[in-house]
Amino acid sequence: MAMYQVAVIPATDGPQVIIHGGAGATLKSQQSVTPIRESLHRIARTVYDQLAQGQPALAAVVQGCQMLEDDPLFNAGTGAVLQSDGQVRLSAALMDGHTHTFSGVINAQRVRYPIQLAHFLQTQSDRVIADVGASELARELHLPPYNPVTPQRLQEWVNRTKDGALMNLVADTGTIGVVVRDGQGRLAVGTSTGGKGGERIGRVSDSAMPAGTYANDQAAVSCTGIGEDIIDECLAARIVIRVTDGLTLAEAFERSFREAAQRGRDLGAIGLDRHGNIAWGKTTEVILAAYAHAAGIQDTLG
Ligand code: ASP
Repeated sequence: MAMYQVAVIPATDGPQVIIHGGAGATLKSQQSVTPIRESLHRIARTVYDQLAQGQPALAAVVQGCQMLEDDPLFNAGTGAVLQSDGQVRLSAALMDGHTHTFSGVINAQRVRYPIQLAHFLQTQSDRVIADVGASELARELHLPPYNPVTPQRLQEWVNRTKDGALMNLVADTGTIGVVVRDGQGRLAVGTSTGGKGGERIGRVSDSAMPAGTYANDQAAVSCTGIGEDIIDECLAARIVIRVTDGLTLAEAFERSFREAAQRGRDLGAIGLDRHGNIAWGKTTEVILAAYAHAAGIQDTLG
């Protein structure tokens, strides 16, 4: 059986936040850890401070996702990886655990904050919009067209195309996710991604499906890793439903990750329950995550 690891951080008073910046193979060097750690800590602290000042869970998730989407280190928004045809297509989902409402966009182009589109869709009758529909929505909302391609991601794509090695490789730092529990105990989650990189046009990521992003009033989970593996495990919904049916967050993570490891999956997840317990798990070598609660800020970077 493949290796897996799960950790649970016991509940403290007040709000909690856990964020991730992807999961995958070992980070290339210690130098690459420092900026990632600084970024994750800064964003986890900002979201926590907002929650401590009374910001509701959903707004805090949107704010955290936007900060991560703006950070070129991560494969979401600015700095997202390019697909097989050299285009960036962004997917994001938001789930409000309090209202039990999922919304998302799939393969949106020329937008800066896909999570903002998912946020708008929370209150609409059509709540998951793909492709040209997402671009049309951005136009309707008067969001200026935006090019999220960074020189570094373009160079990576050119190198891979040259080598003839254009295949699905989850980037070093990946997809982003934010899970929070606000001062009133409400849970919310958001996930945003540029996908795996090098994928076939039209491929749909797990991030904008309940497999990758799910919450109710009992628990909330955001996943990262190979989307097809996450979909096969239906990981986020699987963990949340296990908690709803009476398992503790620790048991739900442990059982779900053991099963995923038995099936050789490449994935990771972060989560929270209604009591404020924080959890993360991975079958990959690393998950880039940081969490903030009354006891301070910690991370999974070692
Ligand atoms: N889950 C994302 C996808 O397959 C990739 C990632 O998490 O890095 O689209």
